Amino acid sequence: KKLAGENIALLIPYKPGKPVKELERELGIRKAIKLASNENPMGISPKSKEALISFMDELNRYPLGDCYYLRKKLAGKLGVAENKLLFGTGSNEIIELLIRTFVKSGENVVSFFPSFSVYGIIAQANGSFCKWVETDDDFKVNFEKILNTIDNNTKIVFLANPNNPTGTYFSHDELVNFLDNVRDDVLVVLDEAYYEFVDAHDYPQSVKLLDKYPNLFIMRTFSKAYGLAGFRIGYVIGSPEGIDMLNRVRQPFNVNMAAQIVAEAALEDHEFLRKVIKNNRDGKIYLYNEFKKLGLKYYETQANFILVDVKDGNKVFNDLLYKGVIVRFLGPKLAPYIRVSIGLPEENEIFIEKLKEVLEV
Ligand code: PMP
Repeated sequence: KKLAGENIALLIPYKPGKPVKELERELGIRKAIKLASNENPMGISPKSKEALISFMDELNRYPLGDCYYLRKKLAGKLGVAENKLLFGTGSNEIIELLIRTFVKSGENVVSFFPSFSVYGIIAQANGSFCKWVETDDDFKVNFEKILNTIDNNTKIVFLANPNNPTGTYFSHDELVNFLDNVRDDVLVVLDEAYYEFVDAHDYPQSVKLLDKYPNLFIMRTFSKAYGLAGFRIGYVIGSPEGIDMLNRVRQPFNVNMAAQIVAEAALEDHEFLRKVIKNNRDGKIYLYNEFKKLGLKYYETQANFILVDVKDGNKVFNDLLYKGVIVRFLGPKLAPYIRVSIGLPEENEIFIEKLKEVLEV
């Protein structure tokens, strides 16, 4: 007898890269440069660090199941009611909660390709599936095609904006037009994991749209600009009714105490966030220039990573790895590309130096 259903047996397990320390040991180098997972190169905010230390002695207690203080603070910052917020162990858990709560076996979710593969993995694990809609040239989202792909069994449309792995975005007007044309029993989930890095003026002001479109949900995370990836904490903003449903499915103590404490402190550390965003902006300009000099096509990014066409992504990825620089290869469907996270200035420089060696220019 089979141990699990076909939907589970056919899943491809997430394969994490080798631990960085292991790679350093194998290569006999002092420090590898990791630009693979869109993490924050500036570490965690000093205020988060202080807060964590001062709460060490309380870690024998269960965390606040409703993230009481963090919720209050974030609601105030966003200008939304507290009952429009729910926290999870990263936006990954939010994606899972949305699918477990709203999508029944046999129903489907829709997203565009290429985008965040986790939507499809979680859908499949829950007896559902993701219909991936091809993007146009330069990875432009084709909303017309998305509307045509939605069927009577579609429950959620996931729209990463800025998108991963391309760094591209769609505008406020495009979003509003889509919301006006999509059936209102289809949930539209904006995945704004990279929200804090955006500088495009026509980027959606999504929170302002919540009152008009009760089928809209917005996911954000503390993993990127706030530098708290290791703590696993993210959140979703939505209608009180929708949040109430998610809250019924959520495990009572899903977000651990340390994560709540550091996230709360991070929201206060404006100075750190400002530095992170500046580092990202400067790094982006530097890398654009270097890619131009090398004649490499890249995609302008609104996030903290850049997609670059290097012709043979797998080879360049492996050659860079051998030189102690870890970037991301995105699989055979995106074979010409690598995705590189924007690092500290010295990390970006080493990446470019090694890339030149690999490309023999
Ligand atoms: N959405 C997108 C588009 C992402 O790129 C990521 C991180 N790779 C996530 C969600 C998940 O982030 P986390 O679970 O760390 O909040």
